[in-house]
Amino acid sequence: MAGVIPPTYADVESAAARLLGHAHRTPVLTSSRVDDEVGARVFFKCENFQRMGAFKFRGAFNALSRFDDEQRRAGVVAYSSGNHAQAIALSARLLGIPATIVMPHDAPAAKVAATRGYGATVVSYDRYAEDREAIGRALAATRGLTLVPPYDHADVIAGQGTAAKELIEEVDGLDALFVCLGGGGLLSGSLLAAQALSPSTRVYGVEPAAGDDGQRSLRSGEIVHIDTPDTIADGAQTQHLGELTFAIIRREVDDIHTATDAELVDAMRVFASTLKIVVEPTGCLAFAAVRRLAPELAGQRIGVLVSGGNVDLARYAELISRPAPAR
Ligand SMILES: *Cc1c(COP(=O)(O)O)cnc(C)c1O
Repeated sequence: MAGVIPPTYADVESAAARLLGHAHRTPVLTSSRVDDEVGARVFFKCENFQRMGAFKFRGAFNALSRFDDEQRRAGVVAYSSGNHAQAIALSARLLGIPATIVMPHDAPAAKVAATRGYGATVVSYDRYAEDREAIGRALAATRGLTLVPPYDHADVIAGQGTAAKELIEEVDGLDALFVCLGGGGLLSGSLLAAQALSPSTRVYGVEPAAGDDGQRSLRSGEIVHIDTPDTIADGAQTQHLGELTFAIIRREVDDIHTATDAELVDAMRVFASTLKIVVEPTGCLAFAAVRRLAPELAGQRIGVLVSGGNVDLARYAELISRPAPAR
């Protein structure tokens, strides 16, 4: 099966070549107000400006680009209600590959519409009674479709690593890089890039406090499984890291931090008011940790991966108008 051999930095480089001219090279933003507040120089790699609104386009496009003719004809299947679904749907359309996306029957109408808008076939399932992975696997087996998982796949990890590669190539001498963490595709790809290009840069994952399985996995040395965490960071509501992602994270990461929902909302407000950008709750994880750890980061050069900006506007307005938490 493709994708099960652990990726290396060479795969991140090949992914970058495949993405050239297809993915956006997203901007790196800075703000002297943020720098003053944090007491460090902060460089934001803004994947909220990536195609379809999140870094997931990188991994999806890279994985689909590697399909052979037979796989292209038969098509791709993915299960997701979030950014991975849209990333697969858009990449498939660009590459002329039929896409089937398995989504819960109660997924937000806007997300179903966006996925259909990219030309994908949506298969819905009852999330309380059926298992999406089993449905995905059954579709793959009966129709010859190729399943592309959201994070535990070498081509997905390599694609996600291209964002950190761009940041490190653009900004010299980063002391530390903070990366949002769900299943670990973005973090493990970033670790491959940092290890190869800037080994002295410390790299940290940041996951929701309500779902600290990554931190616990790192401490215990084996993948910890949890129930779906209750957090506004819907892109990081994963129940466990992947085999491939954990192997890289365990070997390379400096540490894993957490952020509470209140800290995410706080960071979301700073993004809106100071940087003038819309960032979804999951995309705020890395910056939230930097704000909390500011005293330890004084005077350093800090990279922050802003992972995505897909949030329903009414939901966004509701979140940023919540009373500010006591700090
Ligand atoms: C998927 C996603 C994440 C988490 O990425 P993993 O590769 O699963 O760790 C973070 N932020 C956003 C916006 C996402 O869509």
